[in-house]
Amino acid sequence: MEFLGTSIIGFRDGNAGKAGDAGNGAFQAFAPASGQKIEPAFHSATAEEVDLAVRLAAEASTEFGRVSGAKKAEFLEMIAARIEAQTESLVTRASQESALSLARLQSETGRTCTQLRMFAKVVREGSWVTARIDRSDPQRKPVPKPDVRSMLRPLGPVVVFGASNFPLAFSVAGGDTASAFAAGNPVIVKAHPAHPGTSELVGRIIRDSVRACDLPEGVFSLLFDSGFSVGAALVKHPLVKAVGFTGSIPAGRALFDLAAKRPSPIPFYGEMGSTNPTFILPGALAARGEKIATELYGSFTLGGGQFCTKPGLVFLSEGKPAEALINVIKTKVAESTKFTLLTSGISASYAREIHHRKNRGDISLLAEEKSPGAATEFQAGAALFQTDITSFLANPDLSSEVFGPETLLINYSKKEQILEAARALHGHLTATVHGTEQDIVEFSELIAILENKVGRIIYNGYPTGLELCDAIVHGGPYPASTDSRTTSVGTLAIFRFARPVCYQDFPDVALPAELKNENSLGIWRMVDGELTH
Ligand code: NAP
Repeated sequence: MEFLGTSIIGFRDGNAGKAGDAGNGAFQAFAPASGQKIEPAFHSATAEEVDLAVRLAAEASTEFGRVSGAKKAEFLEMIAARIEAQTESLVTRASQESALSLARLQSETGRTCTQLRMFAKVVREGSWVTARIDRSDPQRKPVPKPDVRSMLRPLGPVVVFGASNFPLAFSVAGGDTASAFAAGNPVIVKAHPAHPGTSELVGRIIRDSVRACDLPEGVFSLLFDSGFSVGAALVKHPLVKAVGFTGSIPAGRALFDLAAKRPSPIPFYGEMGSTNPTFILPGALAARGEKIATELYGSFTLGGGQFCTKPGLVFLSEGKPAEALINVIKTKVAESTKFTLLTSGISASYAREIHHRKNRGDISLLAEEKSPGAATEFQAGAALFQTDITSFLANPDLSSEVFGPETLLINYSKKEQILEAARALHGHLTATVHGTEQDIVEFSELIAILENKVGRIIYNGYPTGLELCDAIVHGGPYPASTDSRTTSVGTLAIFRFARPVCYQDFPDVALPAELKNENSLGIWRMVDGELTH
């Protein structure tokens, strides 16, 4: 594998920048498994390159925004096919940069291609534009009715930030990029510094696909940075029209504030951290508590606990069944071995959080990993904490995300307490309820409360593992996301990067194909109040 180590700016290669540039110079990826730097050096984009990438994107906007659904589908499918063809080199590099297993990364590659193809299908079919046509009535009294038609149109240049824990599916060609392209927007990706090699490989695939589909140069750029200046400059650039972000709450919030403070504020879709409360109701606890314990351990330690859907808060009623469940998890944690985390930053922040939890008086450590040998800079061990419902209610910070293989059990004794705890929750991506049918009926109020707190409610399952389909919702009230009305996964995500535009009294010849009198595309449209094909 040969790497250039420079940003991709349209069809041009970025400069091999020097230290002190706007983007803080060169940096290298680390192999978390060995702790060693990986060749080559990647060069941060300069301020001029940031500006050029955005200008090219803005120039490409008009043409790309008018490209047909069939052409956009061809483009998205070409990216998917080329990613598939390079699975081996992509997975090899991504595994070096992340320490994630080859099998996990192979499945993530498949997921990335499936996402691209899902959006290709949506735009080829075409009805997503939500065409509405209200025909004129010149005879209407007292004033004639105008001809009014509307449909969704793209926003313009979209900036995408991916997270470290999905070097493919939430990165350069991930869901944000796929949905922004599908809606007809040029994309500028700010590469995550934890996986620059993987980012460059995917970036080159997209650039080659732009060329092969004869699309304008500015449709795609990929910018490297070892620090925050490139990301901040992109969010503040006046020609950028929207941002898709996946990552931590502090970073998402900092960038959201920048987007809001611009002279012309823009939509910022931040998909951020979550603690994913899990409620184990009394009937389920008595019937299958130990089975739930084993599966729950598997879920909160999956991928070293580095999933935004990790169950980090577990509510269970006091008593013998709870004790049995706790004993199973305690044993599993005590017998576990160390996990290699994605970055030294994530592992340092996990160590800080665990230290803090161990030293506060309102929660107790039930078990922690004790395998031989000291943890390296990139390693961390599983930990299990417990608190009671009164302490939980008194300390809202106990709901914060601890990114890594840790979970917090919260015991309650009365139904009203669990409802109060649910009412006190801030926004999360998911909530999970384990219950019998009788539990669910008895706790129906809990479900009603959770509908206002999360984007996805899981019954008798686990939040890790996110089905890729049209109906999926991956979002939630703040701080799970900065806009609870939408999702970053699934085909609904396309609506984030489009806005309605209305055409009044236009001659048919000047209307977009979706709104012309003849429905040549055969899409679903609302015509004079009736949904028609
Ligand atoms: P991160 O540190 O927030 O990084 C995400 C991106 O933001 C990176 O490109 C990062 O660049 C940039 N960034 C960070 N701080 C910034 C700042 N102050 N100004 C400008 N840019 C900044 O997140 P991560 O560690 O990669 O991923 C872990 C987090 O992502 C977890 O909290 C997890 O729950 C969340 N996540 C959420 C979802 C979801 O769909 N909701 C999915 C996956 C992960 P630098 O690295 O240079 O800082």
